[in-house]
Amino acid sequence: MKHVSFKPVVALVGRANVGKSTLFNRLTRSRAALVADFSGLTRDRHYGEGRMGDRPFLVVDTGGFEPVAKDGILREMARQTQQAIAEADVVIFLVDARAGVNAHDHEIARLLRRSGQKVVLAVNKAEGMRHGGAVAEFHELGLGEPWPISASHGDGVADVLEKALSYLADPEDEVPVPALDADAWPEAGDEGAGPHDIEALAHEGAEPASDVAPGQPIDHRIKLAIVGRPNVGKSTLINTLLGEERVIAFDMPGTTRDAIEIEFKRGNKSYTLIDTAGLRKRGKVFEAIEKFSVIKTLQAIEASNVVVLMLDASAEISDQDAHIAGFILETGRALVVAINKWDGLDDEQRDRIRREFDRKLRFLSFAKMHTVSALKGQGVNALLRSVNAAHAAAFAKLSTPRLTRELLAAVEQQPPPRKGIFRPKMRYAHQGGQNPPRIIVHGNALDAVPDSYRRYLEARFRTAFGLDGTPLRIEFKSSQ
Ligand code: GDP
Ligand code: GDP
Repeated sequence: MKHVSFKPVVALVGRANVGKSTLFNRLTRSRAALVADFSGLTRDRHYGEGRMGDRPFLVVDTGGFEPVAKDGILREMARQTQQAIAEADVVIFLVDARAGVNAHDHEIARLLRRSGQKVVLAVNKAEGMRHGGAVAEFHELGLGEPWPISASHGDGVADVLEKALSYLADPEDEVPVPALDADAWPEAGDEGAGPHDIEALAHEGAEPASDVAPGQPIDHRIKLAIVGRPNVGKSTLINTLLGEERVIAFDMPGTTRDAIEIEFKRGNKSYTLIDTAGLRKRGKVFEAIEKFSVIKTLQAIEASNVVVLMLDASAEISDQDAHIAGFILETGRALVVAINKWDGLDDEQRDRIRREFDRKLRFLSFAKMHTVSALKGQGVNALLRSVNAAHAAAFAKLSTPRLTRELLAAVEQQPPPRKGIFRPKMRYAHQGGQNPPRIIVHGNALDAVPDSYRRYLEARFRTAFGLDGTPLRIEFKSSQ
């Protein structure tokens, strides 16, 4: 067992319309198109990866934050925002230079001051405003120096980011974040978590950290994260997997950014289970999880190569399941779905549940879906075989000649559609990365290639190379 560091988390907080999504997009250099495919799944993206120089970090946009929460959805958001503040490594608090300070800003500032969290106060929409004048009034929020920025133009953003990341320079110096006052927000009732309360999808940064250029040595241990909402059976599965090697004491200090890696072997394969510290009650190993932590789940996914998404056969698929799935998709990790608690169901129930999950998880069609009983150990070996296959697919080496042959065969069978006077011309393909495999297609006028054609090529490559269990990224590069 050893400790590793997760990527630090920068949370964006602020009332509606101050420019959080604009800043989020700038920090993560997001590509909206990637998410469009899964619309209906979520209303917004809220998690993404950013990078400053060679330092990767996660960005969390806390969404429509309204302290005066009236209905269930807002209340749930407020709760999630509060949790994000507590779990982040640093907060960027955004206010609006043009609107000036308002009551909501004061309310949020009060919470932030009380949280003891490190905060950078960024005054947005300050482009073209007289230096100093725009930000002076924000001193009254009591959160230190206000930094003028323009999220849409980019001015000042690098400075604010640098300031935020400077707080993370030395994790040893970190002061623990005190628990937030539980009364600060009304608790969400069960009915509060409506279908609109999806927090969201993350998103691939311009340079995914997991990319390994072809030819580089590959780490053959399988880094595995088992994720899912509380009570689906994750701990039970971990216990079953670890068997006798079960770890019995978990009392570790560590910062919020620590993860624990547990090594185990099955057959001739070695696995590293990425486990999040602090998810369990100290000393009571593998017992009830204190609280579901979206951020820790995201970090575990980030740190893994293959994710097992665990669902509960005895419960409906929830928004929480959907947005964990969304994040897995966005990071491009290999994926196996495990539908747990398959024991004790009759044939008719199994049939119905299988059909329902199949339909609802259609957007994860590249992933194998297993029915298991973590408690009885049923289906666990088959699950691991799919984990192995997904890992092999994620790290497959795709040679340029074979890729090109497959590309040209696909084009011959069905050429890309003409757009105006242009007919996209595809010449060759090579591999640009692994986990997920990236295939770069070279040619002319490729910006005219529609998404449907991209999906056609993806299916062709997937079949030709037997790439089950991993997403594939296909990128087009035109040369003039
Ligand atoms: P959010 O609700 O906090 O996520 O805010 P959005 O990112 O959706 O931005 C709200 C509005 O402010 C949009 O119309 C943006 O175009 C605008 N906006 C965002 N950043 C800037 C900025 O730096 N300058 C100006 N002038 N407008 C901005
Ligand atoms: P976690 O919160 O995802 O780690 O879930 P746990 O592993 O703590 O399991 C939650 C509850 O579901 C416990 O009462 C388990 O005994 C039960 N459980 C877990 N796996 C199974 C299973 O395969 N079948 C049945 N019937 N119950 C299970």
